[in-house]
Parts: sequence; C-alpha cells; structure tokens
Amino acid sequence: MIPPYVNQILFRLRQAGYRAYAVGGCVRDVLRGVTPHDWDVCTSARPEETEAVFHDLPRIDMGKKHGTVAVILDHRTVEITTFRADGAYLDHRHPSGVTFLPRIEGDMSRRDFTINAMALDENERPIDLFGGQADLKDGIIRTVGDPTQRFGEDGLRILRGLRFASRLDFTIEPNTARAMVEQRDLLENISAERVFTELKGILTGPAAGRILRAFAPVIFTVLPELAPLAGFEQHSPYHDSDVWEHTLRALEASPDQLVFRLALLFHDCGKPDCFTRDETGRGHFYGHPQRSRELAEQALRRLKCDNETMDRVLYLIEKHDTWLPGTEKNMRRFLLHEDPARVQDLLIVQRCDAVAHAPAARDAAIAHVDEWAALIRQILAQKPCLVVKDLAVDGKDLLQLGMAPGPQVGRLLNGMLEQVAEGTLENDRAALLAYAKATIDIISRNISAPPGV
Ligand code: ATP
Ligand code: MG
Repeated sequence: MIPPYVNQILFRLRQAGYRAYAVGGCVRDVLRGVTPHDWDVCTSARPEETEAVFHDLPRIDMGKKHGTVAVILDHRTVEITTFRADGAYLDHRHPSGVTFLPRIEGDMSRRDFTINAMALDENERPIDLFGGQADLKDGIIRTVGDPTQRFGEDGLRILRGLRFASRLDFTIEPNTARAMVEQRDLLENISAERVFTELKGILTGPAAGRILRAFAPVIFTVLPELAPLAGFEQHSPYHDSDVWEHTLRALEASPDQLVFRLALLFHDCGKPDCFTRDETGRGHFYGHPQRSRELAEQALRRLKCDNETMDRVLYLIEKHDTWLPGTEKNMRRFLLHEDPARVQDLLIVQRCDAVAHAPAARDAAIAHVDEWAALIRQILAQKPCLVVKDLAVDGKDLLQLGMAPGPQVGRLLNGMLEQVAEGTLENDRAALLAYAKATIDIISRNISAPPGV
C-alpha cells in the first residue's frame, strides 16, 4: 500500500528512534481505494532532527518553524512534519505559534476533517481517533471537534470542506454545514489566491451543482456578483426557474473543466442589471452577455485568475447568447473572424445553456446548437483555409505579378481569403494567380487611366 520511497523515509526515522506515520490526504485516498497524488509523513522528530536523519538527501525547507521539512527521494518530494499543536488563531487563518508534540494524538486533533485526520501505523493499519473510516464509508464531511470553533480558527476550512464534498460527492454533516453558513463572513480574512484555489476545486468536482445550490450563501460571500441571481424571476417563456437555478442547471450539464464551469457560473450574472418588461409583462435582458462579462472580469481579477483562463472564460460569456449563421457560406465567413477552437467551446456552453431552459423552449434551443455544431464540423472536416497563410499564394507571388509593395498586398490576400472561405474561389495556386493577375490589371488600369475615362 505505502510505496517504497515513502517506506524508506518511515523506516529511517523509526531506525533513528522516532515515531513516524503516513498521514492526512494520502491515508484518506488509500482507504477509499484511490492512488494518492502525494504522501505526507508526520513524526516525533523535530525539524532539525529530521534534517539530520536525511542529511544525505536533497531537502527543501517548507517552513521549519511550523515543523515541515521536505525530503526528495527517487525524484519525489515527501513532506515530513513534526507532530504539533497549533497555538491560538489570532487572524482566523494562522496560528500564533506551534508547539511540537511527542505523540501523534494531539497532531490528529488539529486536522480539519475526520476523513483527513487519520494515519497509518507500522502495520499499515489506520490510526483513526475521530471516526474517519466510518465517515469515509458513509460519505460524510465532519470537522474534528466543534465546527464553530474549528472554522473560527481558520475560515479557509469552510471552503476546503465544500471542496472535499464536491470532489468526493459527500454530504456535509448538519452541524458542520450549519457552522459553514453561519460563519461564512470569516472568508473575508482569506487571501484571494487561497479562495480561488478552493473555488476551482469546488467547481470542477462531480457534485459542484449540488454543493453550490446548498451552500449558495457561502459562495455569494466570495462571489458577491452572483448574489442577485438567487430568487431573480425571469418572466420569460424560455425559463421555468430563477436565474440562479438556471445557472446551476447549466453548470451541472457541463463538462467538468474549469473554463466551462466558470463560464456557465457567470454567463447570466448580468441579467438582473439588464432586466426590463415589455407591455405584455414579458421579461427581457437586452445586453446581458456584455454585463455578465464585466462582472465576471471584476470577480476573476479580484481572485487573481490567470490571464489565459480569464480570456477564454470571458469570450464564452460574452458570446454565449450569439445566434450563429445558419448557412454554410455565412458560417465559413464567421469562422474567418473567430478561432475555431473557441467556437467549438462556445457550442458546448450554448448547449449547456439550452439544456437548462424551460421544457417548452429546450428542444428548439438544443436543435439550433446541434445544427450549428454539425455545420461547423462539416466545414472543418474539409480543412478549410481560414487564415492568409493557408492560401496557396503569398505576398511574394503578388509582387512578382507586378503589384507595388504596400498595404494593398495584404488587402488583396484578405479579399481572396474571404472568397476562398465562402467557396466562390478555389484555393488552387493557378486559380488564385489568375484572379490576382486580373485584379492587379484592374488596379493598374484605374491608376494609369486619364481622369474622366
Ligand atoms: P489533497 O488531495 O487536496 O492534497 P489533502 O487532504 O492532502 O488533500 P492538503 O492541503 O494537502 O490536503 O493537506 C494535508 C493534510 O493537512 C490534510 O489532510 C489535513 O489533515 C491537514 N490540513 C491541511 N490544511 C488544513 C487546514 N487548513 N486546517 C486543518 N488541517 C489542515
Ligand atoms: Mg495533499
């Protein structure tokens, strides 16, 4: 169960007279039959003692004063942390100091959730002081000790708990759940980077929709841009739910990649700001994709989202309501001005949005998206020419035909590209050269022709 490189570390610590165990997330994963992505070790050795035991191996100081030394063995890093108790939490996030302990029991009680507070002993049997195995079996997230106190110590645990529930598809024990909602304001003390890391984990988990639905007040604390969606009725034949519920259904329909989940989470968040009702009482949301984009950008910048993700997400939000061309010719022209990979992502978002419409409107909405998708697939299968450099001629060819250097070269290439894309000109060298020659002749005749002719 424990891989050889971790066993070697445990063995050397024990040989030197210390207690040492695999601990935390790796134990949780092993017990639920999943290969851990990394292994953590806890020990009675103090950080200097750990360094002395592994004096011959490369090491990284991960915060010795908190007790953690990382050792690299077989190209893998194992974090070794001294058994410790955390001092008073003054800022709801960081302990004021830590006390090193001789035995594992105290160390287990500082850990966040019962499923994360287990270790494996010398015989690879679980050390389980808080019922972690039972909670793992029953699929329950429960804090070690009183949830109000534990979240009060470190507010990030609220989001960690939601992340584990979303990713493992677990339920949250009622007292733990109540404390998460009651103490959600503690999240205001947490750095944007930490919040975003946990949010990404929540959004990409298989139970993301259920968790967002059940813990909306917590989510709205870190994403206040979404709060107005809850209870916002649409007064539209296309919708049978408020904007928040529609958002969650669309998100639940989506692939679990972050870009889709973020795009769907924010796609309609501009609706409340754009709401109008016509004389029949029907609701409209003119301009909402642009407003959603602005609000999403504000939220993602605050969370310090990387630029590439933000760029892709904002494109999808802005375009989510776009009606694509229905004919091959117009679709080819459309693709000239778009990145086909992004358009394919857009179709995924549009389909999820369509699925979340009211039953009466759903089928028609889905049919449109599927038609666009089929048309695009058919066009892309022909490996169409969508950028100038895919043309069978280039600028040099045009100069050789006698065209003067300058912006007109690019203009002619782009003009040919449009025609090739629309299918009125073939991307064939001879055909393009003939077309170019004829055009150049016309241009030069126009220039050399005397005025009035
Ligand atoms: P993952 O699979 O995401 O790595 P993990 O459980 O290993 O999950 P880590 O953040 O790597 O999570 O932390 C390792 C262990 O340290 C946890 O299992 C838990 O016992 C403890 N821990 C981590 N963060 C906290 C925290 N904020 N409060 C209390 N205990 C924590
Ligand atoms: Mg881990």
